Formats: sequence, structure tokens, C-alpha cells
Amino acid sequence: MTEVWDHYNPVKIRAGRGAMQRLPQLLSGSSWLLITTPGFTRRGLTAQVQRLASSVDFEVCDQITPNPELDELEALAAVYRHKRFEGILAIGGGSVIDAAKVLALTIPSAADNALTTVLRQGQKPNWLTKLPLVAIPTTSGTGAEVTPFATVWDAVDHQKYSLVGEQVYPDIALLDPELILTLPEQETLYTGLDAVSHALESLWNINRSPVSQAYAIQALELAEQALPQALSDPDNLDARESMQQASVLAGLAISQTRTAIAHSISYPLTSHFNVPHGLACSFTLSRIIEYYLHNCGDEISKCLMLRIAAMLSILDLPHHIETYVNHKEIHSLKDEMFHRDRVGNFKGIINNDTLDRLLFNNYA
Ligand SMILES: [Zn+2]
Repeated sequence: MTEVWDHYNPVKIRAGRGAMQRLPQLLSGSSWLLITTPGFTRRGLTAQVQRLASSVDFEVCDQITPNPELDELEALAAVYRHKRFEGILAIGGGSVIDAAKVLALTIPSAADNALTTVLRQGQKPNWLTKLPLVAIPTTSGTGAEVTPFATVWDAVDHQKYSLVGEQVYPDIALLDPELILTLPEQETLYTGLDAVSHALESLWNINRSPVSQAYAIQALELAEQALPQALSDPDNLDARESMQQASVLAGLAISQTRTAIAHSISYPLTSHFNVPHGLACSFTLSRIIEYYLHNCGDEISKCLMLRIAAMLSILDLPHHIETYVNHKEIHSLKDEMFHRDRVGNFKGIINNDTLDRLLFNNYA
């Protein structure tokens, strides 16, 4: 644990069953940009939002696809830059919320291609102002509604970028578990695993603080019971609500610590082979738990981590990962899995041999 630590998270959270009904009170002014996916518009969620907040005039941008790409986001910013909005409402999973975080900064920016300048060319961001952002997650896992990061993918060179900073935080997170009831089984599993990964990654993290630790432990306590329940009984609103809480708590934890080795391993798998993020950052968790407890010890979290490892073993993640990528393909990406900052956040030492063991133990 670091000796001197800070804690800061400015996101206002409104949560609970029926919280969606409070949406109109959260949107001041009359002109908002609504960001979502084509699927949510098809399934009627966009119309439901428009009905609920009928005094607001929404411009609908429902073109967000999984893993938002830099060039697509630049094109969207260019479309909306000359329009006046009082804020952005994002409703969807992590990709939608991350896209909205980016657009909240790039739409008010005077410069074209501001995102390219910051991410591809590595220049210091100089965001003039930011549109207020209300984030409504429809999955339970990414915690994007409470973090100061937005992931942006670059198909041109298979890069994954992070836009990071205090201005990236949403202003309000609105959490209603009833929105999660229709989440399909595989998305329930993969996004739920992302929440578990975030909680663990913040615990075996050199930036861990008493506050991030408390959030992460509570997230794991909830997810250990609620993830299997939500998978076997998708209409179980208690389980859905617990997973939503686990996700936001894990998000609050990584908003302070950032992620570590499991996420470092995940990024090339997603950028090269489209492995879903929650699976890519969780198929190694059982082996990392084993390695971490053996090499670093952790009396506070040990029993809980072992219980989580038992829960993960039932989910048979090696079988899931094999449907996306084979042993040889994983091997070919090893060099890219050493994301310096993320590996450096992990309390243990990761070298080539340990990475092999974390990746391939089950293939032996
Ligand atoms: Zn993640």
C-alpha cells in the first residue's frame, strides 16, 4: 500500500430501481445529444428516453459500434461541432460511454482532429471546455460511468489508446438495474467478468489505497454470489442490482488505481482478434490470483480471492477464449502484452517466464 494516498471522484451517482424515472430532473436546458447504438434504437430504448424527458429536444447519434475507433470518433465530432448542445446523454455499454466521454471534449474543441493530435501524435491535451455528460450504463461491468478514462481503438495500427484526465469523468451516472434485465447471457458473463477483473486489478495494484481496497472487496463480495445467479436466472432483479453495484464499486476502485497485468494482457487480444474485453481481461485471473498470493501474500484479501478463483473455475474461461484465439495466436502477441504502465501497476514481478505461466498453464 502506498504511504501517502489521495482519493478523488467527482461523479454524482443516482442509483436504484426506477432511477430512470428521475432522468428529466437531471437534464437542464432543452437541447441534448443522445449517444447510443443502433440496437438500442431498434429495441425502443431511444424512444423511451425521448418520452421520459419530453421537454428536451434530443439529437440522436445511434451509430456507436463496439470498441469505438479513433477515425470514427473524429468524424462524429466534425458532424456535431457546429451545433449547440447543453449536454450529452449516453445510454449503452462501455463503448457508448467511452465514445460519449471523448465527444464531450472534442465537440466543443475549436480544432479539427483534436483527438488525433492527442492520441496518435502524443501532444498534451488542451480541451477548452467540456459538455456536461450523463452516463446511463446498460451493462454491469465496465464501470465507465465513474472512471476518468476512455478507451479508443485504432484499427490502422492495431493500437489501443486511453484518453485520461479529470475532464474525462462523466458528471452524472444514472444506474437503474431494470435496464440490465434484458442483457443476453454472454454479455452478462463477459461484462460481469470485467467488473471482477477491475476489482482484483485494483487490489494487486501498487496504487491501492484503503478506499480503493474497500470498494474492491465489496465489489468481489457482491459479484461472487450475483454473477452466477444473474447467469442462471436472468430475471432475478436482486442479482442484476448486485452486479450493477459490483460494477460501479469496481469502477470507483480503478478510477483511483487504474488496472494492471490482466488488462495489459487483454488489449492485443482485443485489437488483433476481437476477443470481447471482459473475456480477454479475465481468462488469466485464476492463475494471476495463484501467482499473486504465492509471491506477494495478502492477508486481507486472500480468502476472498480464493473464493473468486473457485467461482471462475466453474465458468470454464479457457474454453471460452479458445473460441476466439488459439495457443499460437496468443503466443504471437506476447510482446504486445507488456503494456509498461499496466504491468508496472502489478505488485508482483512479471517477466517472460511468468507471463508464459499466466497465459498457458492450462494448455500444458
Ligand atoms: Zn476492463
